[in-house]
Formats: sequence, C-alpha cells, structure tokens
Amino acid sequence: MVLAKLATKGAGLKVTADCLQLRDGRRSIPELLEPLRDVRGLQADFLAFESDGAAYTLPRFVVRGPNSGDPIRIGIFAALHGDEPAGALALVRFMRELAEQPGLAENYVIRAYPVCNPTGYEDNTRCSRRGRDLNREFWRGSTEAEVGLLENELRRMRFNGIIQLHADDTSDGIYGFVRGATLTENLLRPALAEAGKILPRNRNPLIDGFAAQDGIIYDHYEGVLAAPAQMNPVPFEIIFETPQLASMEKQVAAMGAFLRRVLEEYRELISFAQNI
Ligand SMILES: [Zn+2]
Repeated sequence: MVLAKLATKGAGLKVTADCLQLRDGRRSIPELLEPLRDVRGLQADFLAFESDGAAYTLPRFVVRGPNSGDPIRIGIFAALHGDEPAGALALVRFMRELAEQPGLAENYVIRAYPVCNPTGYEDNTRCSRRGRDLNREFWRGSTEAEVGLLENELRRMRFNGIIQLHADDTSDGIYGFVRGATLTENLLRPALAEAGKILPRNRNPLIDGFAAQDGIIYDHYEGVLAAPAQMNPVPFEIIFETPQLASMEKQVAAMGAFLRRVLEEYRELISFAQNI
C-alpha cells in the first residue's frame, strides 16, 4: 500500500520538475536550491544541525523589500513533510521572483525556509529520517534538532505573519487552515480565490477530518509549526494545501499566486489600518 503510493508520487514527479527527481533513492537539496545561488538581493543562510551523527543544514533565504523602515516580518515554511516537495519548489521560485522584482516585497522582510525537513526531503518521506512527523512537535518540548532550530527562528524573528505550504494526497482541491490574528481569514479568502484560478477549491464540509467552509478550516492539529504563545501583536497564521495528485507545475503555480496575493492583501490591510 505504502509502496504503491510512493510509486504513484514518483511517477507524478517524473513528468515535471527535474530537480525533484530521486536519484538512487535520494533527492538533492543543492539541486533544488540552485536557482537561488548567488542571486543579488537575496541573503542565504544555512542553519546547521545533526541528524544521527550526519551534518545537515536547514536553508533560510531573506529578501528585504524597498521602503522597509519598519518592515512587516513574514516567515514562509515548506517541506515540513519531506514527501511534499511542491512547496519547496514553489518557495524557491517565489524567492527568486522577489529578488528579481523587489517591488513585490515592498514594506516586507521575507524569510523563507524551503526545506524544513531536510532528511525527509532527501528520502521523500513525510517524517524525518528519525521517524518524526515534525509538524506535530512544535512547542511541546521536542528534542528534534530541526524543530529546535525552527522554534528558535519563530521566537527570534517575531513574525507578523506565518505561512506554511503543504500538499495533501487525499484532497482533490486547494484549501487552507487559518489561525492567529482575526484578520487571517480576510487574507486566506482572496488568496484561495487567486490560487483557485489555477486549481479547483475543495468545498467539502469535512476536509482532513476537520469541519471546513469553502475550503477554510478554523481548527488545527496540535504541535504544528506556529508562533510562540503570547506573541504581541498576534500574527496571522495560514497553512495552504494543494492537491498532491495534481500536476506539479499547477501546484507550484497555485502556491506562487497564493503567496503573491497574501502579500498584496496584507500590505493593503496594514496601510488601511494605519490610516484610520
Ligand atoms: Zn504536509
């Protein structure tokens, strides 16, 4: 069953992005990140950690948009589940786009973490190589190194907005989870509409075991990547899911459209609020 599922996913990837191919059972992170190498206006950092004695890094890319005196801080996270590479690829392309057209990031500083689960990404597994679903480990005293690094980022960077990119192989359409600031659904709704031009929306009343309304879920799993408790102001938190069995190109395009729209929408909401 699991093998059949993996085989299907592998076949799906074959016809699309070459950099996501498994070679000898492993996917290459350097190949994924190649388009971000030595890009002007893009800061790259590699946060080191160890996984069972092997040296790994968790890559982080930063773009600072123009006019960012007191910039809005956004964190975007992908591939917490290693077998969902669409988000990683979408985020690489998105950051490249922002570096080339900084106007898209006006008033923002954007920190992107395209491969939050490097060992799982290499192995094409949901869990890390140590067998942990990293997206159930946050703020629960996890001893997993990747979770510790990301919790540290979430604490230090004090994001105004947090976006996670995922892909769901049980959904035939896009949907999202909202959490945090009350305005979050005002960001998710137009962003879903935008991405909905590329992939259909999942309008089922029940998605992933949660009650949903027009593709929006107001509940969440315990232990997902999230802002630390008692953050002030409360950030917006969005998880965007694409249907994993859809074509890779469409998923990547939908994620890009989604991210662009969230940035536009939030910038407007903030400037409106400041002018009241
Ligand atoms: Zn996922």
